[in-house]
Amino acid sequence: MALIVQKYGGTSVGSPDRIKNVARRVAKFKAQGHDVVVVVSAMSGETNRLIALAKEVQANPDPRELDVIISTGEQVTIGLLAMALKELGQDAVSYTGAQVKILTDSAFTKARIQQIDDAPMRADLSAGKVVIVAGFQGVDAEGNITTLGRGGSDTTGVAIAAALKADECQIYTDVDGVYTTDPRVVPDARKLKTITFEEMLEMASLGSKVLQIRSVEFAGKYNVKLRVLSSFQEEGEGTLITFEEDSNMEKPVISGIAFNRDEARVNIMGVPDKPGIAYQILGPVADANIDVDMIIQNVGQDGTTDFSFTVPKNDLARTIKVLQGVQAHISAREVVGDDKICKVSIVGVGMRSHVGVAANMFRTLAEEGINIQMISTSEIKISVVVEEKYLELAVRVLHKAFGLEQAH
Ligand code: ADP
Ligand code: ASP
Ligand code: MG
Repeated sequence: MALIVQKYGGTSVGSPDRIKNVARRVAKFKAQGHDVVVVVSAMSGETNRLIALAKEVQANPDPRELDVIISTGEQVTIGLLAMALKELGQDAVSYTGAQVKILTDSAFTKARIQQIDDAPMRADLSAGKVVIVAGFQGVDAEGNITTLGRGGSDTTGVAIAAALKADECQIYTDVDGVYTTDPRVVPDARKLKTITFEEMLEMASLGSKVLQIRSVEFAGKYNVKLRVLSSFQEEGEGTLITFEEDSNMEKPVISGIAFNRDEARVNIMGVPDKPGIAYQILGPVADANIDVDMIIQNVGQDGTTDFSFTVPKNDLARTIKVLQGVQAHISAREVVGDDKICKVSIVGVGMRSHVGVAANMFRTLAEEGINIQMISTSEIKISVVVEEKYLELAVRVLHKAFGLEQAH
């Protein structure tokens, strides 16, 4: 007998029939003698609908009130799933994040979990009940409802698994595991049996939305056995996130390709090439609480230089405004933004022991006439910024160039 935490995403609970399907799967595990805690997301599309609704009333929604609104999607699905289980004769009880309670800090819309009270859940499990917890939400020390950032139900699942020291945390979604890249973009993508935490962290942080990055961090920190599986298939091992590289396998140089459409590029042209200029540009951006990702400063010529960096697309207009505010002060010639860009990254621990990976990546893109605007690297990843219209082409040709496709 094991204690299993199962998390079901939006598509998996997207309709009453799908919720009934989840209930059958949960009841099956329970019938096998396991204790099951279930974490659910809102029905697919619901969180987007709620955000749009909020914006109709307040263009720039108050974060506390936004969390009050967007946390309601999950309150519906926990109740529905508890009912569906009861209909099957399986006792179940649903809890919101505040009821459990999942204590977070007060950073509305991106709160971090601080503590989870596991005692009530344990008591219910001992009484033979299935415990159902609303994903994505928590409560701060003052009793305010908080949410954990988009995709946050993954993190709820892993955090509960950590709090209960569960034997496994299973993330059920609409694909049957983690693939070499998003199978919706490359139909030939290959399912990975295992992927290391290190690689999964990079993939998640570089845009692969199959797992929220915080859930991967949490699982790594608290040693949670984490698996991604399909809720639409009866059988299947899914993908296990592991600490060790699989030494039996011929490890490919690259494990996966991630991409991100959510960034925009900012260029500040003709700034004086002197000490302190990067700080004078990025200081005000940081003060405005805008996250900066890739940064490039060109080699100066004639005493001036160009400076570029990327920010979330949503923050582009605000970034430009901040920079226009300091433009005269820093004597910049021009500030321009471009939101028609994307970031494509190759990820793999195999990169550590291979040379020529970057050259192969750049050659592959050059052969397709894809211009690289920015580059950044770490030990196990190389990211490039290219024009957004080339995203799918770039991912496809790189996938092929690094031999990631399925064996036919
Ligand atoms: P859920 O609602 O279940 O949380 P998400 O939409 O958040 O589901 O995540 C699953 C989706 O992640 C898949 O449908 C797929 O399109 C996308 N995805 C992106 N990169 C990958 C990858 N490398 N492997 C598998 N799925 C990926
Ligand atoms: N419902 C939330 C969202 O759409 C949380 C989640 O699905 O994980 O972001
Ligand atoms: Mg998700």
